[in-house]
Amino acid sequence: MRIGAHVDSADPLSEAAARAAEAVQFFLSDPQGWKAPQPREDADRLRAAEVDRYVHAPYVINVATLNNRIRIPSRKLLLAHATAAAEIGAKGLIVHGGHVNAGDDLAVGFDNWRKTFAFAADSGGFALPVLIENTAGGDNACARRLDALARLWDAVGEYEVGFCLDTCHAHAGGEDLLDLVDRVKAITGRIDLVHANNSKDAFGSGRDRHDNLGGGSIDPELVVAVIRAADAPVIVETPGGVEGQGADIAFLRDRLGAGSPAA
Ligand SMILES: [Zn+2]
Repeated sequence: MRIGAHVDSADPLSEAAARAAEAVQFFLSDPQGWKAPQPREDADRLRAAEVDRYVHAPYVINVATLNNRIRIPSRKLLLAHATAAAEIGAKGLIVHGGHVNAGDDLAVGFDNWRKTFAFAADSGGFALPVLIENTAGGDNACARRLDALARLWDAVGEYEVGFCLDTCHAHAGGEDLLDLVDRVKAITGRIDLVHANNSKDAFGSGRDRHDNLGGGSIDPELVVAVIRAADAPVIVETPGGVEGQGADIAFLRDRLGAGSPAA
C-alpha cells in the first residue's frame, strides 16, 4: 500500500523524500485560478520517478453547475489538466464532485457531469483516470452524501470514472466512516485513492478543515479501518509540512504494517 502526501508543486520529489512518502499529490497550477497548466521542466524526472504522482485539479473547477460561465471553462480546464497530468505520468487526476446553485435542479448537475465525460470522449478521452472526490459541504453537492453519489454514478456510469474517498469530507459531510467503504463500493465499484485526513470540525458540520490524524474529531483508528477496507493508495492532506505529514505517514505505516519504503 503506497502512502504519501499532498505537497508543494515546486519540487515534489524532494518533498516526498523529506516525508519518506511513496506517493505525492500536487497542483499543476494555482488551485484558485483558471490558468491552464504549463509544461514542467522536471517532467522527465517525474515520469521516471519511483514515487507515484497524483494531480489535484483546481478548486475553481465545477463541471456540474448550471452557470455556463463556470461550467464550460471548467470542462476545458479539467481536460487540460488531464493532458498535463499524463505528461508527468500521474496515476490519476482528482477533482471535486461540484455542486449546483441553490434552487437549481441537481439532476441537471449530474447530467452536466455526463456531458463532461462525453465532451472529453469527443476529444479522444481523458489521458489518465479522473477520480471524482467526495466533498464536505453544501446542500446541492453532487458527491457529499451517498444518495447523491449514487445518482452521479447513474449519470456517468457508461464512462470509466474513478473515485477518491476523503475521510475528513465524509465525516464533516455527514457520512459515518463505519462501513463507508462497502457503501461507497456498492455505488462506484471502486475506490482508487484515499485522502486520509482528520477533521477539525464535528460530524455533519459541512466544514472542510483538515487536521493531523492524531488530532481532530475522528478516531484515527477509523481512518486506518477505512484505508484497510479500501485497499487503495493513500494521500494525507494534513497540516504541519514535513513534520506533521511525516508523522501522519509514519503513523499509518505503523498501523497498517506497511513497512518502510524500499527506495
Ligand atoms: Zn481531499
